[in-house]
Amino acid sequence: MEKLTKRSVQVDRSPMTISERAYLPSILKGLGITLGHILKKKATVSYPEEKRPFSPVFRGLHILNRDEEGKERCTACGLCALACPAEAITMEAAERKAGEEHLYREEKYAAKYEINMLRCIFCGYCEEACPKDAIYLTETIMPSNYNRQSFIYKKEDLLIPDPKKQG
Ligand code: SF4
Ligand code: SF4
Repeated sequence: MEKLTKRSVQVDRSPMTISERAYLPSILKGLGITLGHILKKKATVSYPEEKRPFSPVFRGLHILNRDEEGKERCTACGLCALACPAEAITMEAAERKAGEEHLYREEKYAAKYEINMLRCIFCGYCEEACPKDAIYLTETIMPSNYNRQSFIYKKEDLLIPDPKKQG
């Protein structure tokens, strides 16, 4: 039968020589390979104690931004959700009421805003699509977890603290 690849090798079944039966040359050869690897530069790092430098284009967890007066920038226009190739963003818009001008920048705001980080591919399209500078991807690595629900980031998790309330 014709072989599919040329990778098959003929196994040498001739009787072992004295040195082969002693195993010593093979052991020494194996030790030589191990020693060679000990002297080589490690390909791994001891994370989390040791961290690799970020790539200049690294994109991590998202934040929802506020303006200088602490008002939420997001107007729930939905452009980020529309641009998202992973359909990871959902939101609910609400109308600003009288007396809430100090909370929200525009007449409309996101009453609910969620990003499903299990869907997100950290492409940054949401950041690029946003006309209000409201969403940014930071250099923070998303923490791991055993619970799928913890990867649904809500508005409270994403919104940066109010600079006016910072000490
Ligand atoms: S980074 Fe990309 S995949 Fe993640 S939420 Fe934004 S647009 Fe969607
Ligand atoms: S984050 Fe930006 S693009 Fe997304 S809904 Fe808010 S204002 Fe619109």
